[in-house]
Amino acid sequence: MMSGNNGTSVQEFEYKAEMKQLLDLIVHSLYTHPEIFLRELISNASDALAKVRFNALTDQELLEGDGDLGIKITVDSKELDFIIEDNGIGMTEEELIANLGTVARSGTLGFMQALKDQQKMLDGNLIGQFGVGFYSVFMVTDEVTVETRSALPGSQGYRWRSSGQGTYSIEKIEKIGRGTRISFKLKEESKEFAEAYRVEQIIKKYSNFVDFPIMLDGKQINSMTALWQRSKSELTDEEVNEFYKFIANDYQDPLDYLHVSVEGMVSFKALLFLPREAPVELLYRQSELENRGPQLYVKKVMIQHECRDLLPEYLRFISGVVDTEDLSLNVSREIVQSSPVMAKIRQILTGKILAWFESLAREQPEKFRTFYKAFGPIVKIGLNTDFTNRQKLIELLRFESTKTVEGEHVTLKEYVGRMPEDQKEIYYHSGSNRSQLLAHPNLEYFQDKGIEVLLLSDPVDVFVIPSIHEYEKKPLKSIEKADIDFSKEKKEGSQPLPENLVQPVLGLFRETLGERIEDVVESHRLVSSPVTLVSGKDALDSQMERMMKMMQADVPEGKKILEVNTAHPIIRNLSGMYMANAANPLIRTVIEQLYDGALLHEGGLDSTTSFLSRMNDLIEAATQQR
Ligand code: ADP
Repeated sequence: MMSGNNGTSVQEFEYKAEMKQLLDLIVHSLYTHPEIFLRELISNASDALAKVRFNALTDQELLEGDGDLGIKITVDSKELDFIIEDNGIGMTEEELIANLGTVARSGTLGFMQALKDQQKMLDGNLIGQFGVGFYSVFMVTDEVTVETRSALPGSQGYRWRSSGQGTYSIEKIEKIGRGTRISFKLKEESKEFAEAYRVEQIIKKYSNFVDFPIMLDGKQINSMTALWQRSKSELTDEEVNEFYKFIANDYQDPLDYLHVSVEGMVSFKALLFLPREAPVELLYRQSELENRGPQLYVKKVMIQHECRDLLPEYLRFISGVVDTEDLSLNVSREIVQSSPVMAKIRQILTGKILAWFESLAREQPEKFRTFYKAFGPIVKIGLNTDFTNRQKLIELLRFESTKTVEGEHVTLKEYVGRMPEDQKEIYYHSGSNRSQLLAHPNLEYFQDKGIEVLLLSDPVDVFVIPSIHEYEKKPLKSIEKADIDFSKEKKEGSQPLPENLVQPVLGLFRETLGERIEDVVESHRLVSSPVTLVSGKDALDSQMERMMKMMQADVPEGKKILEVNTAHPIIRNLSGMYMANAANPLIRTVIEQLYDGALLHEGGLDSTTSFLSRMNDLIEAATQQR
C-alpha cells in the first residue's frame, strides 16, 4: 500500500506471469493495425451498455434515471489526450481485478505463442478472436487509466492504472455516474488517433453498427441500423460486409450471406454469414464450437452475444444475428434454452442453411469449394449427430477419387451415376494424403480394372463415412474389405508360380513372420507389388485403427493378413533361391524387408533402423554380382 495524492490509498498489484508475457507479445508484435484498439474499446463499451440495458429489463433501478445509453469519445490533438466513456454496467473492484488483471480466456497465451512461433503475423485481426481486446490499447499508449463504477446499487468508484509492464494499481475514487471512463495520452507515433477526422473514419469502418450512439466531440458518428430488419432488396453488399466484419471480428469479407425472414408458427428475421476461413481457434480445438453461435436479439435488443441454442453444433461456425418477436425480452438463459420457440427457430434455420449450402454447390461451385475446404470437416460431424438432416448432409459430401485430378471432387451421386452396371459397391480408400493413397498396393487391382475408388484423406472421414453404410442401395466399402472374388480374375501375361510351389513359399513367410501376422495367403488383387497387408474380416480398417491409436483409444491389436503376389518376379526368385539352398540367409532378409515395406505403405512401420540396415545388406548382395 502507498499513499495516493488525494489521501486515499492506492494498492499495487502484480500481473500474473502469463499476463506479463501476453502484454509483451501485444506491445511488441501487434503492430500491423494499431487502429483496432479503438474497435476493441468501443466493442467493450457496447457490451457494457447492452448488459445494463438487459439487466434493467428486470431491474429498472440499475439505470438510476440515466437511461440515455451511449458512448462518448473526446480527443485533444494538441495534448494527445484520448478519452472514451460509457454509462454501461461498469465494474466492481473484484471485477476490475478479474477482468483487467488476468487473461480472459484460458489458452490464449498458448495460441498466441504458437502463432508467433509459426511466424504468423500476430496482427490486430487476431486480437478480437483471442479475447485480449482491452490490452490492444498498449499499442498506442504507455499508460492507461480506467475509472469505473458498477451499476449495482451502492457501488463505489475505482481507478485502475497501468503502464502494461508487470503491475497495475487500484484506488477508490468518487465517481458520479455509473459506467466506465478510459483515458490515456497517445504515444507520439500514434498521434493520428487524436485527430477527430481519423477517429471518425475508424468508427465508420469498424463500429458503424453498434446499436448505441457513439458521440465524438458531441456529434453522433455511427448509423445504428438494424440491417436484418430490412428486406433483402434494400441491402447492399458493402454494408452487409461491413456489418459482418464488425460482429464477427473478421478482417475479410464473408464468403456469402443469407437473409432469412420467416412468419408463421414463429416469426423471426436473420442475417447469417459464412466466413471465408475457419477461425484459428477452430483449427486448434473443435471443442471451441461449444461456445459459439449467432447473436440473439428480441425485438431489436441483444439478449445473447453468442447463442448456442440457435444452431446445431456442426453449424456454429456461422455467425450473424437472429431477431425474434416471439420471446419475451426478459428471458433468462435457461428459459431460452428450453423454449419451444428456440427449438422451432433452430429447426427452420438448420433447414435454410443446408438449402443455402446446396444452392451454393449448384450455382456457385467456386464458393462452395472454398466453403467445403474450410468447413467440410466440421459439417461432416453432423452426419453422426443430426439424423433428421442426414440425407441432405450426405448429398453435400465431396471426395477426391482415382478418377478426379487433385483438388477436384466427386459427389456420391456422381460416383453411383458413372459406376458400371456390374459394380455392386462404392469403394473408398482412406489414408493421410492423396499421393500416399495412390501408391498403395491395395489399389492396384481397382486401377487396373478402371474401378473408381474414393480417396479419403480428411481425418474425420474414417469416423463418419463408414457409418453411411449405403448410398442408393449400394454399400460403401473400404477396398480392404471389398466383396470381390479376386481369384476369378485372370491376369494377362502374368506367369504365376506353379501350383505345387505356392504353399512352400507361403509357408516360408508364415515361418519367418510368425506371430506378427494372422495369416499369409496368395493374393489375386496385386498387379505390380509383391506383397500387401489387408485387414481380417472383422478387423478395423487400417486408417481407422491408426486414427484411434493417435487418439490413444484402447484398440485391440488387430493382426493383419499378408497377401503374397505369387506371379511377382521377386516371389518367383525367392522360391528358386529356396529350392537351391533352403539355408540361404538372404531368404529371411528378403521376407522381413517385404513385410516392412508393406507396413511402410500402411504408415505402420515404427522404426526404420532395421529396415535401412537390411536394405544395405540387400544392396551389398546385389552389387556383388557383376
Ligand atoms: P473481452 O472483451 O474479449 O472479454 P477484454 O480484454 O477486451 O476482453 O475485456 C476484458 C473484460 O473487461 C471484459 O470482458 C469486461 O468484463 C471488462 N470490460 C472491459 N471494458 C469494459 C467496460 N467499458 N465496461 C465494463 N466492463 C468492461
